[in-house]
Amino acid sequence: MSALPAAPAAPDLPHHRSRRRRALLWGALVSLLLVAQSLLVWLTVDYESNRAQEQVETVSASVAADIRQAMSRDLQNLQALLWNDPPLDQWRIDAAEMLRTHREIVRIEQRNLDQRILAAVESPFQGAMFTRIRREDMDIDTEVACTAARRQASPALSRSYFVPLPGGLGLEVIDACLPIHRAGHLVGFMAATFALQNVLTEAVAADVLRGHELSFVEGDGTRLARVGLTRGAGIYVSERLIDLPGITLQMRLDSAAGSPRLIPNLAVALVLGLSLALGAVVLLLVHDVRKRAQAERALAESLAFRKAMEDSLVTGLRARDLQGHITYVNPAFCQMVGFSADEVIGKVPPPYWPPELADEYGRRQAIRLGAVRPTEEVRQTAREGFETTFMRKNGERFAVLIFEAPLVDGTGEHTGWMSAVLDVSDQRRIEEISRQQQERLQATARLATVGEMASLLSHELNQPLAAIASYAAGSLNLMQSGAHDRETVALLQQAAERIAEQAERAGRVIKSVHNFVRRRDQTHEAVRCDALIEAVLPLVRLQARKSGTRVELDMQAPVPRVVCDRTMVEQVLLNLTRNGIQAMESHTPPAQRELLIRVRQTHARWVTISVIDHGPGVPPEVAQQLFTPFFTTRSEGMGLGLSLCRTVIEQHGGALDFVTLPSEDAAGSDASKGTGATTEFRFTLPADSAERRPPHAPAEPHGADVAPSTP
Ligand code: ADP
Repeated sequence: MSALPAAPAAPDLPHHRSRRRRALLWGALVSLLLVAQSLLVWLTVDYESNRAQEQVETVSASVAADIRQAMSRDLQNLQALLWNDPPLDQWRIDAAEMLRTHREIVRIEQRNLDQRILAAVESPFQGAMFTRIRREDMDIDTEVACTAARRQASPALSRSYFVPLPGGLGLEVIDACLPIHRAGHLVGFMAATFALQNVLTEAVAADVLRGHELSFVEGDGTRLARVGLTRGAGIYVSERLIDLPGITLQMRLDSAAGSPRLIPNLAVALVLGLSLALGAVVLLLVHDVRKRAQAERALAESLAFRKAMEDSLVTGLRARDLQGHITYVNPAFCQMVGFSADEVIGKVPPPYWPPELADEYGRRQAIRLGAVRPTEEVRQTAREGFETTFMRKNGERFAVLIFEAPLVDGTGEHTGWMSAVLDVSDQRRIEEISRQQQERLQATARLATVGEMASLLSHELNQPLAAIASYAAGSLNLMQSGAHDRETVALLQQAAERIAEQAERAGRVIKSVHNFVRRRDQTHEAVRCDALIEAVLPLVRLQARKSGTRVELDMQAPVPRVVCDRTMVEQVLLNLTRNGIQAMESHTPPAQRELLIRVRQTHARWVTISVIDHGPGVPPEVAQQLFTPFFTTRSEGMGLGLSLCRTVIEQHGGALDFVTLPSEDAAGSDASKGTGATTEFRFTLPADSAERRPPHAPAEPHGADVAPSTP
C-alpha cells in the first residue's frame, strides 16, 4: 500500500494564521500612520492656504473701503472748490492747490453747459495731459458723466479711458463731473481727471503694497492700473467691486505669498517630527516587547527544565541562608524527611533535627555559619561529606550523609549554603548486618578450631588426668595400708603435690582454650608482638607436640608493638600455625618438622609477622584459590581459615600473602617424594606510632599511607 501524501502539518495552520494576522495588523498600523501623517500635512496646508486667503480677503475689503472713502472725500473737496461761487482766477488758484495736495487728481477743468472748456488746471506732478491727443477728441466719456451729473444734480464718474502720454507711456483715467449751480440753476460743470494708478497709490497704505499687487481690472480681466512693490503670485487673489457714483470699479488684490510649503511652519514640523518619533518608538517598543517575550519564554523553559531536573533527583537538596534558615528544599528531600516544604522552609530549628540532638546541632551550625571564609572542615565536608542523624516525621531516626558547599550568587557574594543530602540508613543497616555476620562467622570459625582441637585436648588432658588418677590410687593404697610413719606421710605429700601439679597442668590447657574462645571486646589496642604470640603459643605447642614439630620464635629486639584487635590477630596466628603444622604432618621427615614464627618491623609504620614451615609448599592450582572461602584440600577442613585471616588483616589496613621457596635441605634429602619447600605466610600490622622508630628502619616513602605488600 502506497503511503499517503503527507498532509500539511496540522499544528502549522494556526501558526500560519497568526503570522498572517500579525502581518495584516502591521500593514494596517503602517497605513494608518501614513494616512494620519498625510491627513495632517494636507489639513495643515489647507488651513494655511485658507488663512492666507482670508487674510487677502480682509486686506482687500479694507483697501476697497479706503478707496471708496478717498474718492468720496475727493469729490467733497472738489465740490468745496465751487463754494461761494469764486471768480475764475480764484478757482484756478484753489484748483492748483488741490492738485498739489491730491496726487490722484491730474487735471481739473471748468466747462460751460455745452461742455466747452472754460479753464483747466494741470497737476504739477504729471504735467500736461492731452498733448498727444486733443482733449476734445477724448471727451465722450466725460460728456456722458456730465449728462448723468446733470440728471442726478450730483457728481458722477465716467468710464475709464486711456490717455497716451509722451514717451510711449499713458495713463488710465476716469473723470468726475460735478454740476455747477448758481442761484439754483445749472450753469456749467467741473470735471476732475483721476489717474487710476494714483488713486490706488494714495488710498492704500504702504505696507499693504509691500506684500500685495493691487490693480483695477475690467470685466474681461484687462488690467487698467496696477501698484505694488512685488508681483502677485496669482494664488491668493481677492477681487472686489467698488461702487462709485456713476461707475463700478473692479479691484483685484493679489498676494505675493506663494502656495503653502509642505511643512509650512516650525510647529507643524515639530508635530510631524514628534509623530514620526512616536512611530519609531512604537516600532522599538514592539521590537523590545518581542525580544522580552522571547527571553521570558526561554527563561520559563529553562526554569521548567531545572525544576523537572530537581524534582527528578533522588538526592535531597537543601539551601540555607547565612542565618541558617532553610530557603529551599527539593521534593526528594521532603520525601526523605517526610515533612512538606512549607513545614521546613524558614523553621528554626528544622523539624527534622532529633530533639535530643538539637542543642548539639545548633552549636555545630553556629560554628559553621560563623565562619566567614570556608574553613578546612567546610572544604572537607564539600568533598567527603559528613554523616549525621535526621528524624523523619514519624519520629524514626536515620543516618544521612551531607555534602555542603557555600552558595555563591551571580555577583560572587556568599549568600548561604547548599547541601546535597543522601539517606544512608539502608547502607548503614547492611553494613551493620554484614559486621554482625562477620563476627558470627569468626566466632564460628573459632569454635570450629576448638572442635578440631577436641581430640588433641582429650589426648593432652588424658596424661595429667591419668597421672592424677594413678597418684590418687597410690595415695589411697598408702592410706589403706594404715602406715603412719614419716616416710608414708612424705610419700603422700609428694603424691598430693604431683596431683596438684597435674591438675594445674590440665587447668592450664583448659584455660588456654577458654582464653581463646572467650569473646573479647573488639577494640584496637597497642600490644607487644611477644605478648600476642605468647597468648596462642600454648595452643600452638599443644598441636605441634602431637606431630613432634618444633616451634621456634625469631623476635626482633626491641620487640615491636602493633595496634590491633588482639582476639582477631591471635585467631590469625593460630590458623597460620595450625596450617603450617598440618602441612608438615604427612610429608616432612620428623627431623625437619620445624615451625618458625618471625617478627620484623619492615617499615616505619608496618610490622610483618611470618609463619614459616617446611611442608610440601603450595601447588600453583591451589595457590589460585587459597583465599577463596570454603576452599580446602583436607577432608576435615572447612576452608574458611585463610579467607577469614585475610579479611581480618585487611580490616586492620594490612595485607596477607605467602611465598613458597624450594628448600635446599629438602631438595637434597628426598627429591623423589617431591616434598620439601619453605612456605612463608606473612601479614602486616600497623606499628604503634608511639614506638620509637628503630635505627635500621627504612625511611618512609613519600605518600606511603597504605600497607606495603610484604617483600
Ligand atoms: P582449611 O585449613 O580448613 O583447609 P584454610 O583456608 O586454612 O582451610 O586452608 C586452605 C588450604 O590451603 C588448605 O586446605 C591447604 O591445602 C592449603 N594450605 C594452607 N596452609 C598451607 C601451608 N602452610 N602449606 C601448604 N598448603 C597450605
